[in-house]
Amino acid sequence: MYAFNYHRPSSVAEAVKLLKSSPDGRCLAGGMSLIPTMKHRLASAADLVDLNGIKELAYIKRDGDALVFGALARHVEIADSADVKKSIPALAALAASVGDPQVRNRGTFCGSLCFADPAADCPAGLVGLNGTVLTDKRRIAADKFFNGLYETTLEKGEIVIGISFPIPEKAGWAKFANLASRFAIAAVMVAKTGGEVRVAVTGAKASVFRVPEMEAALAKNFSAAALDGIKVSSTDMNNDLHGDPDYRAHLVGVMAKRAVQTAMG
Ligand SMILES: Cc1cc2nc3c(=O)[nH]c(=O)nc-3n(C[C@H](O)[C@H](O)[C@H](O)COP(=O)(O)OP(=O)(O)OC[C@H]3O[C@@H](n4cnc5c(N)ncnc54)[C@H](O)[C@@H]3O)c2cc1C
Repeated sequence: MYAFNYHRPSSVAEAVKLLKSSPDGRCLAGGMSLIPTMKHRLASAADLVDLNGIKELAYIKRDGDALVFGALARHVEIADSADVKKSIPALAALAASVGDPQVRNRGTFCGSLCFADPAADCPAGLVGLNGTVLTDKRRIAADKFFNGLYETTLEKGEIVIGISFPIPEKAGWAKFANLASRFAIAAVMVAKTGGEVRVAVTGAKASVFRVPEMEAALAKNFSAAALDGIKVSSTDMNNDLHGDPDYRAHLVGVMAKRAVQTAMG
């Protein structure tokens, strides 16, 4: 690990100031992705700004027609939250499917979004449920947040402070996980919100993506049968030891149907 300065601010304002004054500062949330990457010297930071002392970021709440949580909401808290289970059970299911208990106890939904791992579950949750990323300076729509493999549209030093989700009428999550890492080989979040249907896929390409043909079919008829005959193209799908593009394209179809069935209860 390269040497770094460690900071533990107690407010967002203090964290922003620390990041602004550093040539190469990074936030630390659960550390589940950042610390191993730093240990392998694949990432470095002159200053590590630990968000864990900022109490205002640790919350999950229902706020009118939205479910909102802070940057320190951990996977286990989202999975176990009565508010999440009641308003968006598919999001609780997604959080419960992340990694193992150790990862869920430390890792945060927002940290996962910021890391933008192509096999992570949270990006599909954000895009499928049409969430909004709240930062220290703006609101970023789900479709504008990711910028490819491990890339987001966050600016240097910008801090994600939370996420807001509209409450869907129906939503379902289905994941085909790598049995060793629990990361997705292909996973799908399907949601119907205010008449709009979204189908967001993770694990299958370099970044989360939507499937417009499925969305159009489900908007007309929200049932698994509506997806019969829709072939997902294998172009640009990941090709690794866990599955080739054709296998992944097939999995997306199967997971999408399962997600719809889950959404239908
Ligand atoms: C063994 C293992 C299995 C896993 N399995 C899965 C899985 O099945 N599914 C899955 O989705 N994930 C999985 N993960 C990843 C896990 O979900 C992590 O929690 C997540 O990727 C990162 O969250 P974190 O809070 O630990 O972030 P950190 O590691 O602390 O940070 C990750 C990156 O985000 C930045 N960052 C963090 N928070 C903020 C913020 N608020 N504002 C701006 N930047 C920020 C950091 O600077 C860093 O670049 C796994 C990880 C491990 C180690």
